[in-house]
Amino acid sequence: MTVWNLGSVNADRFYAVPHIPAAGETLAATGYAEGLGGKGANMAVASARAGSRVELIGAVGADGGWMRDRLASYGVSVAHVAQVEGPSGHANIAVDGDGENQILILPGANVLLDRGQVAAALAAAAAGDIFVCQNETNLQREAADIARAQGLRVAYAAAPFSAGAVGRMLPVTDLLVMNAVEARQLEEATGTAPADLPVRDVVITLGPDGCRWIDTVSGQSRDFPSPRVSAVDTTGAGDTFTGYLLAGLDQGAGMPEALHLALRAAALKVTRRGTADAIPARDEVTGWQP
Ligand code: ADP
Repeated sequence: MTVWNLGSVNADRFYAVPHIPAAGETLAATGYAEGLGGKGANMAVASARAGSRVELIGAVGADGGWMRDRLASYGVSVAHVAQVEGPSGHANIAVDGDGENQILILPGANVLLDRGQVAAALAAAAAGDIFVCQNETNLQREAADIARAQGLRVAYAAAPFSAGAVGRMLPVTDLLVMNAVEARQLEEATGTAPADLPVRDVVITLGPDGCRWIDTVSGQSRDFPSPRVSAVDTTGAGDTFTGYLLAGLDQGAGMPEALHLALRAAALKVTRRGTADAIPARDEVTGWQP
């Protein structure tokens, strides 16, 4: 089957700095690196590296040709990634010697998705496929409505947290994935505990402690531990987790087996520096001895 990912594509620009700049300060960076990021791209790469067929629905700007090429090199289909006028989404990330960071994000092309583009892409989806979106694009609810009408299972990563976006998405979500901070923000915003949400499956990631799966129909909650690792960079850990989880489900695994795979992939990712480019392939994940 196919994982349809309506999601963001960002250029992550890392600047090594002697200290985090203060307001009004001009500071020379001592190093520079550029990588592929954005929650949509990260999840899409993870699902593709896990062996699933992945269609990314998104947009890059005039400067974004290299990101489409990079996505394709990881096995993500970019047939529905439009190239639009103006800048690509990007994140300027200043990192000092202590690992402290300051991040400036321009959504750019990510919020210029077009209804016609989304509808045309999802017209090719088939019942039993999986749809996923996050909060870094426009048109999530519109796309999820089309996906549901086509018989797709709708997954939603409620990140970065936005009470408005979550409120719009919950009524059409089958599988909700969020980290512990987002789960708390959601509970504060809605006054509803995760187990009482109108969503069939809720997965809460718990950093080094693994994850919790709540089956809201049976009311059962189950914790899954993470392999123990020494983390060097947790950027994109949650996206790796979600991308692998969806690939596992797409390939016919049950929830416990798919969660187990996702936990291994995310734990292996945090031992590596980088975002999309650091997401491990399926054979690395299965052969890995933590
Ligand atoms: P986010 O990346 O969204 O902040 P988490 O911190 O919960 O979310 O991390 C997502 C997943 O990544 C976790 O469920 C876990 O599988 C993995 N992970 C994150 N940090 C670590 C860590 N230090 N050791 C092992 N796994 C980790």
